[in-house]
Amino acid sequence: MLRVSLTSLLLMIAVFALSAGDIARVSVQDIAERTGARLEYDPFLGIGSLHRGNTTLAFAVGSDIVVRDYREEQTISPPVRDIGRVFFHADDAEMIEAVLLPQRRDSDQPVIGAIFIDPGHGGRDPGTIGRHTVDGEALVLQEKDIVLDVSLQVRDLLEQNLPDVPVYLSRETDVYLTLDDRTRMANDIPLGENQYIIYISIHANASLNSRARGFEAWFLPPEQRRVLIDPEDLDADRRSIHAILNSMREEEVSVHSAMLGNELLAAMEGVIGEQSPNRGLKQENWAVVRNALMPSVLFELGFVTNEHEARLLADPAHLRNLSIGLYTGIRNFIEVFETGLTSGT
Ligand SMILES: [Zn+2]
Repeated sequence: MLRVSLTSLLLMIAVFALSAGDIARVSVQDIAERTGARLEYDPFLGIGSLHRGNTTLAFAVGSDIVVRDYREEQTISPPVRDIGRVFFHADDAEMIEAVLLPQRRDSDQPVIGAIFIDPGHGGRDPGTIGRHTVDGEALVLQEKDIVLDVSLQVRDLLEQNLPDVPVYLSRETDVYLTLDDRTRMANDIPLGENQYIIYISIHANASLNSRARGFEAWFLPPEQRRVLIDPEDLDADRRSIHAILNSMREEEVSVHSAMLGNELLAAMEGVIGEQSPNRGLKQENWAVVRNALMPSVLFELGFVTNEHEARLLADPAHLRNLSIGLYTGIRNFIEVFETGLTSGT
């Protein structure tokens, strides 16, 4: 009898040790996926690096050192290679993830942890098209080209000036994406604790009235309810007040969306107000922003159907100014958002 129990005890210990061994390591691919970091790995040399925002962590298989931002060294259990993957000890993986998903403040103050920029249309969907004859020459403008040009410039300005905040683009080339593709991408971006993401969809306008011109911003009215809080995420006693919590969150997202829209308009007016009028902030239930579970604004840069504005939208200097306007508005919004004007909500 004793013999049997001893055997089964040893078996239990062996099984426990085996499963603990499996749990205690995390692959570098999983770390990259969980943090949204970009992974570079040279399987021949066994060295690699993880990049997120302006943070870089370099590692080497078998080495007990990771190097942060090319200077700071940290000691770890040497990562091992197994079937073509690199594994870190679970404790080291946790430390690496914390470094890649930094808390930019010690307090519970919310911060913007990611910016999602969505150049509208693309590929087989050109968006609106403006056709004019200027000095006897044909001027044809496609919305998809204008908004991509501006979006790439806004991304570059943000990355140069706010290197801590990762910027994501729904498209970087002339490709077709559905509205669902775009919002799914934004909703799937990983965020740290107290980190929020903002969503800016960039478009150009058209009107049957060829005199219509100017820039404007749209956001979702608060009465459009979305499921922002999953009831499954709440404990049993809070589940009963799910509807209230959800509508409070909806209110908060709407307030932040309006705030973002106003910052974008104000900054844009400061840059191009002399050339193009500010048509203001508007509310509508647009699918483009409806399914994004975060503060979201749709920004219309100007009218391709107005000849004066079409000439501006064909001018690289004007596209540069539009990009500076959007970048400045985003930066100002982040400043207001993070310095506590939202603490009452
Ligand atoms: Zn559009």
